[in-house]
Amino acid sequence: MRNVIILGSGCAGNTAAIYTARAGLNPLVVIGHEPGGQLSLTTEVENFPGFPEGINGPDLVAGMQKQAERFGAEYLFGKVTEADLSKRPFRLNIDGEWQECQTLIIASGASARWLGLPNEQKLIGHGVSSCATCDGAFYKGGKILVIGGGDSAMEEASFLTRFGDTITLVHRSENFRASKIMLDRVRSNPKVKMLTNTVVEDVYDASKNVVTGVKLRDLKTNRVWDEAVDGYFVAIGHIPNTKPFVGQIDLDPDGYILSKGGARTNIHGVFHAGDVQDRIYRQAITAAGAGCMAAIEAERLLAEGH
Ligand code: NAP
Repeated sequence: MRNVIILGSGCAGNTAAIYTARAGLNPLVVIGHEPGGQLSLTTEVENFPGFPEGINGPDLVAGMQKQAERFGAEYLFGKVTEADLSKRPFRLNIDGEWQECQTLIIASGASARWLGLPNEQKLIGHGVSSCATCDGAFYKGGKILVIGGGDSAMEEASFLTRFGDTITLVHRSENFRASKIMLDRVRSNPKVKMLTNTVVEDVYDASKNVVTGVKLRDLKTNRVWDEAVDGYFVAIGHIPNTKPFVGQIDLDPDGYILSKGGARTNIHGVFHAGDVQDRIYRQAITAAGAGCMAAIEAERLLAEGH
């Protein structure tokens, strides 16, 4: 029986681990299907406070784990496939083995949706990104491609106009899910070129380990052509990793955990941290802050003995 189990090993989970381990709670961190979370998919992180020269994303997250382990946190490879949160202790099936805990911190994140092109996966962190705030500044004066037709794509495209020379927004239809105001802002920006009814069929150049261009297809005319780009940003939505909790924890229609204030969920003793609840900020630093909040709440609940 654990005092606390933390699901996820990104910034939120690792920070929760540091705090609960320092509080002597001997946390178990279940690493999950994306070890290190989204930071492990980036290269340079320039906006995490305390690193004036920037820091490599995987190094930052590895440092957090090391820090938590120093205070006694244990890390377990695996992911939760099933959960019973109907009473305490809570029960979690981790790759076939059941574990019990008094408190649970869900920091399992939200995975970016990708187009699924074979070369896309190979170039993540080398020109392929799902976060303009994280990676936009690397493309100063460059040609940037943004894929999507929702508010995220508009937000990313608008933000990237600060850096890129040209932003090409590619959307698979001519109907946008984006709000009018955000769409209009992008449409009226002279740096943005819109390609509707267009899909990306490939991204180059995996052999050079850097993005150099894309293959596009106009769905109306069937014209196929290559376009040179330096940055490739996918903004077609995120999938919160809450599957084992469907029907137990209150989720919004898209599957994100509904917060009941602070780090609390609708279940006493179960807390949320990071992108699994936060669909707005999604930053390493906000996830770390949320991990801290969840840890403090778990610690207080255990100290009060209920
Ligand atoms: P979204 O609204 O679900 O839009 C996803 C977009 O990606 C759609 O245009 C969709 O095209 C496209 N798409 C999905 N799968 C695709 C694929 N395989 N290939 C090509 N295109 C694909 O997602 P979102 O933009 O991330 O927004 C999620 C929620 O957060 C929304 O409620 C949004 O309003 C909110 N949000 C708000 C703000 C803000 O207000 N500041 C900022 C960001 C997000 P189809 O339409 O053709 O399906």
